[in-house]
Amino acid sequence: MSGLTARFWGVRGSIPTPGRATERYGGNTTCIELRTDDRIFVFDAGSGVCDLSRSLINEFPERSLEATFFFTHLHWDHIQGFPFFSPAYEARNKFSIYGDESRDQSLKDLLGGTMYGYYFPVTLAAMQAELAFQATSSEFDVGPVRVKTLPLPHPGGCLGYRVEANGSVFVLATDCELDQVAANRDEIEKSPEAPRVHDAALLEFFEGANLLVIDAQYTDEVYRGKAGWGHNSMAAVVDLCVQARPQMVALFHHDPASHDRKVNEIVYETCDRLKERRVTDVMAFAAREGMTLRVEKPKPPLRVR
Ligand SMILES: [Zn+2]
Ligand SMILES: [Zn+2]
Repeated sequence: MSGLTARFWGVRGSIPTPGRATERYGGNTTCIELRTDDRIFVFDAGSGVCDLSRSLINEFPERSLEATFFFTHLHWDHIQGFPFFSPAYEARNKFSIYGDESRDQSLKDLLGGTMYGYYFPVTLAAMQAELAFQATSSEFDVGPVRVKTLPLPHPGGCLGYRVEANGSVFVLATDCELDQVAANRDEIEKSPEAPRVHDAALLEFFEGANLLVIDAQYTDEVYRGKAGWGHNSMAAVVDLCVQARPQMVALFHHDPASHDRKVNEIVYETCDRLKERRVTDVMAFAAREGMTLRVEKPKPPLRVR
């Protein structure tokens, strides 16, 4: 088995944001495809899953399709494309669906509830594919890959996923407000420029990532008015990168108010801050719809900026 390849189908947070002002990075909400040689993994089913759906139908016009979904959490922007995932309506296909099963209702009922009655014309039962709902745990195997999860600080909870396969490490930490779990939370509330102190278990989850995909929704200025809403400031992202040293960090879950030029500015400033901190081994860029990346150490001449 070779390593992992990631493809971004939706990178926007909160609500789909189509239009000219977002056409560079894309307006679809979260969806990431991750592949090994013969396995397809899908992280979240925001509106970006609709384009993935079309791509898979082209690739598997008659053959049966098997794939594994991993849901980080069930906020609308992470599930709203699921009822439009056409391959799930074909009986020949088979999907495993992982998510947090520790809630008061099952993952199946919660996802199915969005298709119930007044919300959608057909129910989950119309999906004829085999759907196997599965609970995540802190560490488990799916075929040839090892998956680790970490509860992230976000209203209602969110799971971070770490996937390890044949020496490649992919980490997804969307929808998180890391300041909420910093050991020096009180200090950074008063002085946001103070370096965040994170505990060893949190850093261990992030360490050694070839590709880290992280919630980078707010600038520091916007964050000041949105503390407690569950998303990172730029300062929180930079501090994590300084400590965990991912080889590539894809800024993700772009704010609906961040048009393309704003996202560019966020990337430039993130790179500048890393440089100021003398961090030269972390390549930062913004996740963009359609971007495909090998989850491995980037080759030196490559600059995504
Ligand atoms: Zn979200
Ligand atoms: Zn959320």
